[in-house]
Amino acid sequence: MMKEEINEILKKYDRKKISIGTLGSHSALNIFKGAKEENLRTVCICKKDDEIVYKKFQLADEVIFVSQFQELLDEAIQEKLRELNTILIPHGSFTAYISAEEIMSRLLVPMFANRELLRWEVDREKQRKWLEMAGLNLPKTYKDPKEIEGLTIVKFPGARGGRGYFLVTSPKSFFEKAEDMMKRGHLTKEDLESVHLQEYIIGGHVYPHYFRSIMENDVEFLGVDKRYESTVDDIGRIPASEQLQIDLRPTYTIVGNIPITLRESLLPEILRMGDRVVEASMKISYPGIIGPFCLETVITDNLKIYTFEISARIVAGTNVGIGTSPYLYLKYGERMWMGRRIAREIKKAIQTDRLEEIVY
Ligand code: AMP
Ligand code: AMP
Repeated sequence: MMKEEINEILKKYDRKKISIGTLGSHSALNIFKGAKEENLRTVCICKKDDEIVYKKFQLADEVIFVSQFQELLDEAIQEKLRELNTILIPHGSFTAYISAEEIMSRLLVPMFANRELLRWEVDREKQRKWLEMAGLNLPKTYKDPKEIEGLTIVKFPGARGGRGYFLVTSPKSFFEKAEDMMKRGHLTKEDLESVHLQEYIIGGHVYPHYFRSIMENDVEFLGVDKRYESTVDDIGRIPASEQLQIDLRPTYTIVGNIPITLRESLLPEILRMGDRVVEASMKISYPGIIGPFCLETVITDNLKIYTFEISARIVAGTNVGIGTSPYLYLKYGERMWMGRRIAREIKKAIQTDRLEEIVY
């Protein structure tokens, strides 16, 4: 039903004046710069406090102010976006601050994404099913804290950038640490009821970025990043004896991203994984993934690749490629990155009158 309504809206759009819109956060600069390079207009839904970003970089043609991102659902704001012929690009702040359910049912603005898959992305059980369908290696999970055996990571729902995650080694350490994390305000009682317990894989953390192009009928590999996290990435700088004295426990709050290139012999598998994830997505919800997606992987010392999450939209890790990235350079030469790749796909769809195929 939603798709028919979106098609009706698209019919009224002036295709010579399409705007690319997104929430002002996460990867908005990446997306806006890409749109500008492809001569599309941009519209930023922005919180007043964050205006400085879009002022200094001059990348938003239109700014719509909100006091919180939830207001994207307000009818007046949606109407304004439709007047501007906006195609929305969802990123991490969409599912973090507006629910996937509301995006499915209340956001009547064309979106460059398969919304059903956004719903799959925020549900860990569904994610797991999807990754298993694609034949990827997944870490073991435990249903009950009492089953914990060996190093285990404790996670909570939604894209919170690893905030509140902690490590345990046994049922006993789980209950002790959960208590402590609550005392320190890192998590609530409700969080504890929705914990996800996963075998902790020791290895190199690698986040490959892909782009599924409907226009070119291909799955492209655009780049790789790893995360820079507070406090876990600083722990190696503190000797173990001092760590014990201050009872240091790692947290995984994301502060930024670091670009990486992969050992070339890892590429065959990384490329096949992207293809298989798209094939599985087509079975879950046709036409499958539209545009960007990312796998979160850990690669062990015997080069086994474990995938523990999928993002069915642009990830902020692609910001490391703004301007260019090594793998994009191989295919496109200079000046290509995720935000621009998105805009180019939309532009091609406009030119060939196929916008209905990529906007939902
Ligand atoms: P924010 O608008 O910065 O709060 O980001 C929205 C969500 O996306 C947060 O819950 C973060 O977990 C995630 N996120 C933001 N920036 C990054 C980043 N650079 N790398 C990975 N995840 C991010
Ligand atoms: P997430 O929010 O799931 O992307 O993960 C936050 C942090 O925990 C990142 O540094 C991940 O690389 C790490 N992480 C998540 N799951 C695992 C796992 N099963 N094994 C090892 N590290 C993990």
